[in-house]
Amino acid sequence: SEFLRVDNLTKSFGTNTVVKGVSFAFEKGEFISLLGPSGCGKTTILRMIAGFENPTSGSITVDGNDITHLKPNQRQLGMVFQAYALFPNLNVGDNIGFGLKIAGMPTEERRARVADMLKLIGLPGFEKRYPYEMSGGQQQRVALARAIAPRPRMLLLDEPLSALDAKIRVSLREEIRAIQLDLGITTVFVTHDQEEALSISDRIVVMNAGNIEQLGAPHEIYNKPATRFVATFVGQLNTIEAVVSDVAAKKVTIDGQTVSLHTLPDNAKAGAGISLTLRPEVLTVGARADNDISLTGTISDVTFLGSVIRLRVALGTNIVSLDTFNDQRTAPPVRGEPVTISLASKDLLVLAA
Ligand code: ADP
Ligand code: MG
Repeated sequence: SEFLRVDNLTKSFGTNTVVKGVSFAFEKGEFISLLGPSGCGKTTILRMIAGFENPTSGSITVDGNDITHLKPNQRQLGMVFQAYALFPNLNVGDNIGFGLKIAGMPTEERRARVADMLKLIGLPGFEKRYPYEMSGGQQQRVALARAIAPRPRMLLLDEPLSALDAKIRVSLREEIRAIQLDLGITTVFVTHDQEEALSISDRIVVMNAGNIEQLGAPHEIYNKPATRFVATFVGQLNTIEAVVSDVAAKKVTIDGQTVSLHTLPDNAKAGAGISLTLRPEVLTVGARADNDISLTGTISDVTFLGSVIRLRVALGTNIVSLDTFNDQRTAPPVRGEPVTISLASKDLLVLAA
């Protein structure tokens, strides 16, 4: 059933409209990411849901109740910010118990709830520590515990991992997801990091300049990007410049090699240039039974990434990148070697320019 609903939400600061009629609806228990580049309006949307910012127009409904004009403390939402949001002069126990104390929870019950929260975030017994005695990752876990301690209806997270080191960022995001699934709490997570959004979310709202570009599950966003913006913002993308050589036969020439495509843009003309885009993983080194396009080139770069080896292959002026598994039984690819790559024409993304 529908739990969070945002209808035609708009926010202007003076003459600057930064959220432009955004609508979406999510189920109870979903982990939702708002993903987009810096300045696209993610934080503003989150702050309107939290009640720190008044919408210029539009409405927000949680569990059937219109909360658009409620005060923040009437909304029963938990929030975690980027960093440094703990009260520095309070110990961990008092930080986590802060909202509970304000709500009038008796001391013993509060103490028990704080201890439970510390177990949940993997920091049992940390009550007497102070924020400055802990790492950034530990502080963010405490901030998470503080947000969920009052058992809010929804959790709002604004780039809570962006100030942390890469390794901690990955382990903490997995921990956040595990806790969220465990509690079944509907969560809205703001990030500009596409990998983070893809790995953690049930569904993603991809935003650009105050508008929604696409809303969908991670695999839908990645495999079937609705717009050129989504295709380039989420995941890696190769672009190949080609020239149309035969419209009827859907033939194009790529660095002197002629291949047949599955489809051509509607307005394609012989002699005209077109761009083909494709994900690195649809390219295979060598032939493959279901690949109908083969191209020859030269390995121009080899990047060792551990389980994966990323190759750059120069076809001529076009250079594409593709990933191969690190098969430890065969010699690794070498820069300068000739190579044949293949793909299925149906895997080319044909997008409106
Ligand atoms: P994001 O979180 O996606 O980086 P924000 O929601 O913070 O983006 O900001 C969107 C736009 O709104 C930016 O251009 C920002 O400068 C502007 N903005 C945000 N808050 C205010 C404010 N209080 N007054 C004026 N402009 C603001
Ligand atoms: Mg922001």
